[in-house]
Amino acid sequence: MHKIAEGLYVLPSFPSFAINTYLMEDVLIDAATKWDALRIARQLRGRPVNLLALTHVHPDHQGAASKLCQSMNLPLACHADDQQIMEGRKPMLPRSWMIKLQEKTWMGRPHPVSKVLKTGDELAGFKVIHAPGHTSGSVIFFREKDGVAVAGDVMSNLNPFTLRPGLHEMPDEYTVHRSQSRESIRLLASLDPAVVCFGHGKPVTDRAALKRFAQALP
Ligand SMILES: [Zn+2]
Ligand SMILES: [Zn+2]
Repeated sequence: MHKIAEGLYVLPSFPSFAINTYLMEDVLIDAATKWDALRIARQLRGRPVNLLALTHVHPDHQGAASKLCQSMNLPLACHADDQQIMEGRKPMLPRSWMIKLQEKTWMGRPHPVSKVLKTGDELAGFKVIHAPGHTSGSVIFFREKDGVAVAGDVMSNLNPFTLRPGLHEMPDEYTVHRSQSRESIRLLASLDPAVVCFGHGKPVTDRAALKRFAQALP
């Protein structure tokens, strides 16, 4: 596992940093695709893990959630506004061709959410901040003392089609509400994080670049 900050690790995957999962103290953040369950379980072997928390509910983040919760006996957490989707009571959004394709190829089974997240909750020393737009229940996990943020798909540090690095808004195919999503990018930048870990791409440590990106949004 690669250490990013005190108590925060990214789990190795291939292609590296294409679809990220993190260990944040004893909380696993996100669960990649349904094909990643064995790899993630193997990588976590011997480490205390007490919760799986999702930054949001999309097939490349909830894929292995059900399998891992069962095999590792973990409770599952996500924001209230993505809970029904995680539990299979509402469809994954947006209903784009890309999400429909990922439902067939990557999505895992629905699974009951036992811990519903909201702004102000604390997980492993990180504050939960609701940051909707990419999905309605997207969240950022933020640790104030050293400015570390785990921000899911609020934006990415990877071009989703070419896999080249760089700050990007998520494409329309994955975005439920564009203006909300831009508001959430501005919210992330306003935290002035020293490190931001996204669902896709390497961690970002260039504070000025993130601010410039947010300021340039329409
Ligand atoms: Zn997503
Ligand atoms: Zn994603």
